[in-house]
Amino acid sequence: MTGMERRNEIRLEGIGVSPGVVWGPVEFMGKGLEEPDHSTINRDQVDAEKARFSLALVATRDQIIELQQEIVDEEGENHAGIFDAHLLLLEDSTVLNEVLRICETQLRSIDWAYYSVVKRYIDSLRKISDPYLRERAVDIEDVAKRVLKNLRWSESHPGTEMETSRPLMAETAIILAHDLTPSDTVGLDRSKVKGFATEVGSSTSHTAIMARSLNIPAVVALHNLPDCEAGDTVLIDGYHGIVIINPFEKTLKEYEEIAEKESELLSGLADLQNKPTETEDGKVITLSANIEFEQELEGVKSSGAEGVGLYRTEFFFLQEKSKRTEEGQTEIYTRVAKATGQDGVIIRTLDIGGDKLFPDMFDNPEPNPFLGWRGIRLSLDRPEGFRRQLRSILRASAHGKVGVMFPFISTLEEVRGARAQLRLAMDELRSEGTAFDENIEVGAMIEIPSAVLIADHIAKEVDFFSIGTNDLVQYTTAVDRVNDRVAALYQPCHPAVVEMIRQTVDAAHRNNIWCGICGEAASHLIMTPLWVGLGVDELSVGSAQVLRTRRAISRLQTDQCLELTDRIAGLATADEVETACREIAEKAYPELLL
Ligand code: PEP
Ligand code: MG
Repeated sequence: MTGMERRNEIRLEGIGVSPGVVWGPVEFMGKGLEEPDHSTINRDQVDAEKARFSLALVATRDQIIELQQEIVDEEGENHAGIFDAHLLLLEDSTVLNEVLRICETQLRSIDWAYYSVVKRYIDSLRKISDPYLRERAVDIEDVAKRVLKNLRWSESHPGTEMETSRPLMAETAIILAHDLTPSDTVGLDRSKVKGFATEVGSSTSHTAIMARSLNIPAVVALHNLPDCEAGDTVLIDGYHGIVIINPFEKTLKEYEEIAEKESELLSGLADLQNKPTETEDGKVITLSANIEFEQELEGVKSSGAEGVGLYRTEFFFLQEKSKRTEEGQTEIYTRVAKATGQDGVIIRTLDIGGDKLFPDMFDNPEPNPFLGWRGIRLSLDRPEGFRRQLRSILRASAHGKVGVMFPFISTLEEVRGARAQLRLAMDELRSEGTAFDENIEVGAMIEIPSAVLIADHIAKEVDFFSIGTNDLVQYTTAVDRVNDRVAALYQPCHPAVVEMIRQTVDAAHRNNIWCGICGEAASHLIMTPLWVGLGVDELSVGSAQVLRTRRAISRLQTDQCLELTDRIAGLATADEVETACREIAEKAYPELLL
């Protein structure tokens, strides 16, 4: 982009996945593989090229191990396991032999030989629709970039130490990328990242989840990022999913006002931190937080959340196998149980599958992972691993108020099968004399329409329901939750979804159990009047959303919300439902609806 053009601001629209407004100089990450400059060599250079390759592989290995250690030191074990897969890729003999063959027989530089082999792999993996294989392409590209960088370094700095693998950021910056690989994200210097924006992704992608848990504004699914230069100013509006490159002074002024209002709003909410969550007329709702990583507990505490309503354990399982032992899991669940104290934590058993893939469990990629081997199906098919997790959760229950819930329930048999494994785990612990809470609360996630329609039966066999709207919307409306092409059809306000939620809450109450919502829709403030009107007992939201949600509830009257739900029962479109909800929300808490 030229200097003249740079004066024009460029507005891009994507999906806002983590709220807030920030701006600052841009840094790029995750650029694709760059083709090395020179490509041919003489026969007498072959040995030197091979030696350079060996050195670059060793250096890459050392850097990955060093980075892994740094992450462990700074943030504990949770994120570091991702690098084990990267280390294995460095040893892939098919790739390495092919590179050496091209260098020897075609007399190509080792950089180019490596680039061409890896690029071919990546391109063919990217053409496959299966998300597991696409994810492998991201990992391969990540490692290949490090190797190529080290090859370049060894050529321009013969005999000297190679650079560190951590991206060096000069100052706090906005990160723009096609996509951020898991290793890009965990390898970033967090204190210097103000916001993210990526070309691909969805509200459930790894980047989005990380951004939310770090409380950093983020926008994804921007499609085509125009060229801009490192250091250009980029503004991220995570509320509305807008990214502005080189914003005009006037635009920055407008956003300065928004940011000021936002910080005023937040300080105005501070007095709600230790208050109960209740409507104007005194109806109490439990307001808890969702977490993915233990490190988020600090934020949960300061947000004033009443415990953790959903602890997603998949991310803890990203670490290497040796750390997923019963002891490893017990330690972490116990720390979370102690930290949440009397408010409690609901630990969800593994929900791997769908978009949450887990390489070593999927030897055979699935054609349709969202309808495949996921959540409770996978746990029941691997009872030993499942029981290991249940034993760990039970052991943690001796140290705090712990609940357990099962994801992706579609049949009653699954609930019974899961409870049978829980009973077995309890029997084992009892006979070993290990302490646990005999009355641990057991819940089912309701996120599949078949579970909604048999909710009365399921309710008789569990202590609570937690509605996973992220999946319930996807499975009710047949809209892939991570496919931004159909994002407009992903409608939490769809009357069919609202009806599913109404039926679930009613079934829970008919059977004297409580019912919460832990999907993203729990924090959609437009929908808060609906949740109150439907009689939802608990909302579990991202910790950044806790105080806003508490304020919204405090401004509502139960009668008015009940009247809304009656009215909505006759509506036919998502737009109509949203408009009816918005009318109440805008009157009750306009300042919260940015
Ligand atoms: C959901 O489906 O709403 C949910 C909370 O679970 P996840 O997003 O992890 O599938
Ligand atoms: Mg779900």
